[in-house]
Amino acid sequence: METLNNCPVCKETNFKPYLGCKDYTVSRETFTIVQCNSCEFKFTNPRPEPKDLGKYYESADYVSHSKSTKGFINSLYHIAKHYSLLKKIQLINSLSKKGKILDYGCGTGDFLNNCKVAGWEVSGIEPNDLARNIAKELLKSEINSELSENSFEKNSFSIITLWHVLEHISELDTTVETLLTFLKPGGVLLIAVPNCNSYDAQVYGKYWAAYDVPRHLYHFVPKTTEKYFKNNGLSHEKTLPMPLDSFYVSMLSEKYIARESGKSGGLGMIRAAWRGFVSNIKAISKQGTSSSQVYIFKKGAF
Ligand SMILES: [Zn+2]
Repeated sequence: METLNNCPVCKETNFKPYLGCKDYTVSRETFTIVQCNSCEFKFTNPRPEPKDLGKYYESADYVSHSKSTKGFINSLYHIAKHYSLLKKIQLINSLSKKGKILDYGCGTGDFLNNCKVAGWEVSGIEPNDLARNIAKELLKSEINSELSENSFEKNSFSIITLWHVLEHISELDTTVETLLTFLKPGGVLLIAVPNCNSYDAQVYGKYWAAYDVPRHLYHFVPKTTEKYFKNNGLSHEKTLPMPLDSFYVSMLSEKYIARESGKSGGLGMIRAAWRGFVSNIKAISKQGTSSSQVYIFKKGAF
């Protein structure tokens, strides 16, 4: 295990325990989430060494890398994914003139493929072998497994996207700094992450599926996300809600509760739909409380 002595956002050294969470999908081990006393950033600490993280992704439950449509939740996930892909492309097209786009952690390449169809010149990076091979096949282009300072031409991308990826990155500073060298001045960095200030996070507590320890190393809220990227020289343009995530995360959370208590999850799915709905209603009246959010940052033109 690796223990962080400095807060990843403000670099201060004093933390307090925030929540003990179980890995419900793979290892069933319990991990501690701590909160920085200075900036309130929450992160999994201690966490597995980078070389050991791979084994925590080895599960059929980990659907983000699989094309399986087995099971009710998986089916809903894939329908929702199709809808959210359309919304993502609309968003990308609204943010910049068409040019080069890099998706860091591109998974099986569905988002990039839709970008390509929409006229973008696409590049991706994906560490997972299975997902990367599917992406290569789909996009008919080379996808790198990791980022290095020579991966791409400097200042060449109009948009760089990280869809639910930032929270998985061990080498956070190095990765973000390297990515930013590839972004054009005036280019857009798009970050989608879960939000533990959401209603669903509050009601599900340690069962909230988007804590997803130890795969999620960081647990962002608007304040800490904005602070981290401002520290990296970016300006915050806007934040948008991701309304479908509250339903999906609530369903998974109910599944974990049912599994832990040994009861069937039938009523839980109705409760999940209700809580997902309430979460979205609350996020309308109180900005910055959506289950997951998309943050749009801009690299200065100087
Ligand atoms: Zn801090």
